[in-house]
Parts: sequence; structure tokens; C-alpha cells
Amino acid sequence: MKKPKLFITNYIPEPAIKRLEEVFEVEIFPENRAITHEELRKKVKEIDALICLLTDNIDREIIEAAPHLKCISVYAVGYNNVDVESATEHNIVVCNTPGVLTETTADLAWALIMSCARRIVEADRFVREGKFRGWEPMLMLGNDIFGKTLGIIGMGRIGRAVAHRALGFDMKVIYYDSQVDPESVPTDYIAVDLTTLFHNSDFISIHTPLTPETRHLIGEKEFNLMKSTAILINTARGPIIDEQALISALKENKIAGAGLDVYENEPIIPEELIALSNVVLLPHIGSASYETRTKMALLAAENAIAVIEGKNPPARVN
Ligand code: NAP
Repeated sequence: MKKPKLFITNYIPEPAIKRLEEVFEVEIFPENRAITHEELRKKVKEIDALICLLTDNIDREIIEAAPHLKCISVYAVGYNNVDVESATEHNIVVCNTPGVLTETTADLAWALIMSCARRIVEADRFVREGKFRGWEPMLMLGNDIFGKTLGIIGMGRIGRAVAHRALGFDMKVIYYDSQVDPESVPTDYIAVDLTTLFHNSDFISIHTPLTPETRHLIGEKEFNLMKSTAILINTARGPIIDEQALISALKENKIAGAGLDVYENEPIIPEELIALSNVVLLPHIGSASYETRTKMALLAAENAIAVIEGKNPPARVN
């Protein structure tokens, strides 16, 4: 019997490909670059299932060009790149990879907190530039983390994992979440409104999905509410912050610094942001560990396999 066709828009870890080949005729986009919208639109005409990246724009046009498509399996937890409403209308199941990347992404948020507070990237550059002349009383002074207040926006899986790590630093954790039931959150953490969070946090870490409500959740007005010593961390999605307002806030020292893994128009990063020394900039590597990327790939594979076999997938969005 002919196997159903599955297309993957980029290489994902091998164990998942092997598993997929048991069920599908698998094709992987062969070029060492992102597939274009037009290339994908042509390709989806003939496929039954798709594994896509968070950078692939799966809009109505793509969905309408895919008469046999039954599953869009996103190789990420965030699925803001998929027109879920349109997929649902066309009886296409959308899946994602929640849970398996939680701890790895929380680790990275903490890497940014520590890098920003203790000026790790700047200090590394200083040493490499041959500027280190020995211990000096005022060299590279940063900010303490221990005992400070951490404000988490979005107390879901990753938000909680970031909060959990803060307990080891004896931090006070406050959080804002639009919908979460406070009863479900450990009592060590205090629910507050957004204004209170901005007023009181020494570190602010964003962990909401990107939705119409969270787009530009943080802009000029919000920066005006923050402490001048605050450090803002974003490992969620770039458009949650108004990037121009962030650049102004950093230039005008409205806040002390920022640690970013994600940007408003990836992969474009404004020159003005790159020129600033009080930001740490990463290339969207929140979930990038060998272990986690393999788990994500296997989950994306099991999602697609379940849908094609008429079963309930492990992580269904719609
Ligand atoms: P999650 O468990 O769904 O947590 C998100 C939390 O944000 C939920 O508690 C959600 O509440 C809350 N929320 C939704 N809308 C909100 C709003 N308007 N204001 C405040 N809180 C709001 O998701 P997760 O697994 O922690 O992942 C969070 C996001 O991180 C993903 O959507 C993804 O975009 C991003 N991410 C990035 C990377 C990276 O590589 N940098 C890696 C992994 C994830 P409800 O559940 O009640 O809606």
C-alpha cells in the first residue's frame, strides 16, 4: 500500500525522521535555507502531513493550496505562525510541542538574567580585547540577583520553571497572568496586576504566547512604569515588546538592560539595538539543546503519525 506523504521544511533530529519513515513517505526541504512561501505553497498541493518550523508562515493561502493536508505539526510550542482558524475550517489538525522544551527554555531565560546582571558578555569581550590589567575595585560592577524581585509575565509552563529556579536565589517572585487560576500556582509566588509588576520588579521575564492581546504588551507606557535598574528578559516572542520603545528605553536609561532571544522582525535586528552595550542578544536558541530538540522532533513526529492513523495526537492545538 502507498504510504501517505509528509513534508518537513527543514532537517530535524534523525530519530524522528526514522520514526516518520515507518509510516510516511518523507521528504525534507533539501536547501540550507528557509523555504519560501511560494515554494511551500506549491509543495503542500501533494502532501498529507506537514512538519513546519516557527519561522514558516502557514497562512490561509498555504492551507487553501493543500487539498489532502490532514495535519500541521509545528516543531515548537508557540504556534502563532499558523492560521489555526483557517486550518480548523479545513479539518486540518494543528499540533505543537509543549512541555518537552520547558526546562531548557527556562535555563536560557536564566542564562540571560545572569548575563545581563553580571555583564558576562561585555566582560568576555573586555578580556578578549586585551583590556584586563588585573583586579580593580570598580571593574565591571553589575547588579545582584540574590534576594531581588523577579516579575514573571505569563505563569504557564516556562514561566513557572523560571520562577522555580528563582527560589534558589532567594528571590521574591511576583507574576501576572491573564487567565491562570492562582490556586494552581505554588503559594511561594504572588499574583499582581501588570502595573504593580512593572513598579516592583528588578528582573522582568516574559513567558506569554504571542496573541493579538500580547502583541506590544510592553511599550513606551510600560517602560515608564519600570524601575530604572530593571532588566527585561524576553525568551517568548519578539512582537510582545515594541522594539522601538525598547531601544528608546535603553538609550534613555529608563531601564538598566535587556536580554533578548527573540525579535520583532526576525532575523532582522535593528542596528540601533546591536549598537547598545546594555543588551545581550541571542539568535532564538531557547530550546536549543541536543536533548530537547530530539524530544521536540519525536513529539512532532508522534503528532503527525497519530493524526494520519486517526488517533488523538499527544499535543493537539485545535
Ligand atoms: P504556556 O504553558 O501556554 O504558558 C503561557 C502562559 O501565558 C499561560 O499561563 C497563559 O495563560 C498566559 N497568557 C496568555 N495570554 C496572556 C496575556 N494576555 N497576559 C498574560 N498571560 C497570558 O506556554 P509555555 O510552554 O510556557 O510557552 C510560552 C511561550 O514561550 C510560547 O508560546 C512560545 O512562544 C515561547 N517559547 C519560546 C522559545 C524560544 O525558543 N525562545 C522556546 C519555547 C517557548 P492561559 O494558559 O490561561 O492562556
